[in-house]
Amino acid sequence: PFDVLVVGGGPSGASAAIYAARKGIRTGIVAERFGGQVNDTLGIENFISTKYIEGPQLVANLEQQVKEYGIDVMKLQRAKRIEKKDLIEVELENGAVLKSKTVILSTGARWRNMGVPGEAEFKNKGVAYCPHCDGPLFTGKDVAVVGGGNSGIEAAIDLAGIVKHVTVLEFAPELKADAVLQERLYSLPNVTVLKNVQTTEVTGKDKIDGISYKERDTGETKHVELQGVFVQIGLVPNTEWLGDTVERTRVGEIVVDNHGATNLPGVFAAGDCTNSSYKQIIISMGSGATAALGAFDYLIRN
Ligand code: FAD
Repeated sequence: PFDVLVVGGGPSGASAAIYAARKGIRTGIVAERFGGQVNDTLGIENFISTKYIEGPQLVANLEQQVKEYGIDVMKLQRAKRIEKKDLIEVELENGAVLKSKTVILSTGARWRNMGVPGEAEFKNKGVAYCPHCDGPLFTGKDVAVVGGGNSGIEAAIDLAGIVKHVTVLEFAPELKADAVLQERLYSLPNVTVLKNVQTTEVTGKDKIDGISYKERDTGETKHVELQGVFVQIGLVPNTEWLGDTVERTRVGEIVVDNHGATNLPGVFAAGDCTNSSYKQIIISMGSGATAALGAFDYLIRN
């Protein structure tokens, strides 16, 4: 059996595996897609100590470092069940059952999609999810932000400083963002807020040229011309497969303590799949290190 089995090969999982392997204990990683969300990131400018790096290069660096520690990497494998017996068992979709004394869950998250026509077609051709990453691509253009929660309003404020005009679309009759954010938003000259509207379509030919929405009180459908849409309706943790085995929040994030431990002894978690504040590469790597040290501490006490 493994001493530490990491499920998920993004920055948090890679960091956890390297920290564990450096203790000289048997370490494995199972990952559906090694590198996780970083594979989809073009330029990274907030990975401290590195001024600029592209996602695929950062993934290659992670993989290289993981290899140097002799970590057993099982790529293109998806975990579907976890169960604590004498050891902790992780069953993969291919039927294999891996056994380990401790497990670190680091399965990350994905952006929630609107699920309207045009969204998938125009992904990376005007439909974006990360304002910190893609905002500068829309300098001087007109964009929409879908979602009036904290992340949507933060995105709108952020984008208003870069783009020509921002239209915010919120499904509910009121914005859900904190009052201070709303005040800041309403103080900006180049923002329009549409409430009680349902986005129905992203329109365009080769690139996007607008967004259609329905006014929920009148039932009337309207269209705004623009060049970009930022979808900010939530981040979904990849934790559905865990069921009730570990405690999760209402939105599915794994609840961890300050050692990265879950409520199930020997099972730890790190990164975007947990209830940590802010989802960033550097933060997920830090929490991966914490979970690995937490797991090592658990091993020497049990
Ligand atoms: P992830 O990167 O999501 O990795 C999860 C891993 O788990 C993957 O290997 C996945 O295949 C695997 N997995 C999932 N389910 C299973 C399963 N059941 N079985 C086995 N494996 C599974 N952050 C920054 O700091 N700076 C940026 O500039 C930046 N830009 C971004 C741009 C985009 C487009 C996106 C999407 C995100 C960006 N982020 C950025 C956020 C950053 O990528 C994440 O915070 C970070 O990748 C989280 O790491 P993680 O290891 O927790 O999860």
